[in-house]
This record gives sequence, structure tokens and C-alpha cells, in this order.
Amino acid sequence: MELLKDKILNDGIVLNENVLKVDSFINHQMDPFLMKEIGKEFARIFREENITKILTIESSGIAPAIMAGLELEVPVIFARKRQSLTLTNDLFSAEVYSYTKQETSKITVSNKYIGKGDNVLIIDDFLANGQAAIGLAELVKKANANVSGIGILIEKSFQPGADTIRAKGYRLESLARILSLQDKNVQFVEEVIQK
Ligand code: 5GP
Repeated sequence: MELLKDKILNDGIVLNENVLKVDSFINHQMDPFLMKEIGKEFARIFREENITKILTIESSGIAPAIMAGLELEVPVIFARKRQSLTLTNDLFSAEVYSYTKQETSKITVSNKYIGKGDNVLIIDDFLANGQAAIGLAELVKKANANVSGIGILIEKSFQPGADTIRAKGYRLESLARILSLQDKNVQFVEEVIQK
């Protein structure tokens, strides 16, 4: 998706060869126009999958997920990373090791909102080792629902997540695929293929 790639090139900050900072348009300040276009793009890609629910994880997945939900006209659920006083029982849970926080947390979702017969689209901001997406897919399976696809804003293709997810048989669609963050430069996968 050219708009997202341009934004990454213009406003993304390469912290090191493994981590891209996108605090000015995704992870802290958010760009509503970009999120709207991302929602449209996910809707275009997954329209034929008869999606009934979108599942993401708090907090950075929520904005793109809600925009995709608006376009596909389906509810959006976010898995929680912390226990809530009001969400206590009847939860599905999965363990997820956080790439950025380097700690394992239990993610949960209420059994009220995903169930048998649901076709679920999973959305997240980044794909690194695939832990978050796989944890979300586990929640969907525990709910006896179907994982119809996984939509990622920024895939770091040089890390193992994409292969791990595809090896599990899931449909993975990433809007920007980064081949390398070496030398403080963002290089996209397509750029190299076109050369
Ligand atoms: P994974 O679970 O695939 O290993 O990592 C994905 C999660 O880690 C995402 O939800 C995202 O929050 C975080 N993440 C992974 N890599 C990056 C990165 O390069 N930049 C930022 N901002 N977040 C990342």
C-alpha cells in the first residue's frame, strides 16, 4: 500500500536493525486519514471471505481494526492484555510473548463476542515473530470460530513471523513488507523484486 509505505519512509524512525518506530502516525499519535485508507484496503482484500468479526489486540491494532470494521460492516473486538475488573469470567485466553516489552502476558477475550460460525479477520500493526497474531488465532480457535485471514500493517519480512503464520495455513496479507532496516534505511520487499 503506497500511502503507508510513503508514510513509513517519511515519518518512520529506524531505531535499530530490528525495530521501526512509528509513534507519529500509528503507535502514539495516530493519523486518521491513513487509518481510514488502511480500513478500506483491508476491506478490499478480505471482502470475499465473508468476515463476521474483526479481532485485534490493544492498543495499536484498534484504530486500523475499527476502520476495517466500518468498511466491512462488522463488529470489532480487541483482546485485552491486562485483567479487567468488569471482564472476569467466561474468557478465552492465550499466552503471548511481547516483542517490544520482552515479557509474556495473558491475552483474553470474552466468550460472548466470538463463537461458532464466526469468520474472524485478525488485524495487528506489526508482524515480527508472529506471537501476537498466533495468540489471537488461538483465541479464535478456542471459540470454535474460523480464522479467515490475518491482516498486518507492517510486516518485517526478515523476521520469522510471516513464514510461521503461513506454515500454519493462515491467509496472511501485509500492507507494507520490510525487507531490511539495515544502516538506518527502510527497504521494502517489492522494491528489490522490481529491480
Ligand atoms: P510479534 O508478536 O509478531 O513478535 O510482534 C508483533 C507485536 O510487537 C506488535 O503487536 C507490535 O506491537 C510489536 N512490534 C514488533 N515489532 C515492532 C517494531 O518494529 N516496531 C513497533 N513499533 N512495534 C513492534
